[in-house]
Amino acid sequence: MLLSPPVTPQGLQTLIASEDIHARIGSLATAISRDHPDGVHLVCVLKGAFMFAADLARCLTGRVTMDFIAVSSYGTGSSSSGEVQLLKDLDVAIAGRDVVIVEDIVDTGLTLTYLLGVLRARAPRTLRAACLLSKPTRRVVAVPVEYVGFEIEDRFVVGYGLDHAEAYRNLPAIAVLEGVVSPT
Ligand code: 5GP
Repeated sequence: MLLSPPVTPQGLQTLIASEDIHARIGSLATAISRDHPDGVHLVCVLKGAFMFAADLARCLTGRVTMDFIAVSSYGTGSSSSGEVQLLKDLDVAIAGRDVVIVEDIVDTGLTLTYLLGVLRARAPRTLRAACLLSKPTRRVVAVPVEYVGFEIEDRFVVGYGLDHAEAYRNLPAIAVLEGVVSPT
């Protein structure tokens, strides 16, 4: 198992250690496996959820299939208009399947709301959402998330798939990047 790096890069403060992430993912996987006795089709939201989805998939029991979707939020600099653009669609149809969207973090909730709408229109048998992190105080729209790893405060975090300007995705822990605020 990956352990936290001995040296945390400058400007980063560890918020959730690698060991705690893996323990929590084990619990989420147990719940997801229990709720999907016929197997599950994971939809990983690129890029931020790639590491979470990979580790979650390895902990699931039963039949697992995976697909990937990529979105980007419109907006300039640190502001987001709430509009979401589909950058990469799924490769396979989800009609009649038991789908779990795998997201890195739910912040305002706009991205996940958009994705749930897009996928629901394709008539999956069931559709649920798993996110590693949630910032409940930032929510703009109420969105159902059945499987939440950790609720965190309003801090900008990186690591374990999450980036800042494409950096830090490789960190095994979740860290607060000092001096960066959440997009408004
Ligand atoms: P929402 O649509 O819920 O506001 O935003 C979700 C997306 O915003 C996430 O998938 C992620 O890309 C980005 N995001 C929100 N908060 C953070 C954060 O603290 N760190 C990073 N790296 N991305 C964030």
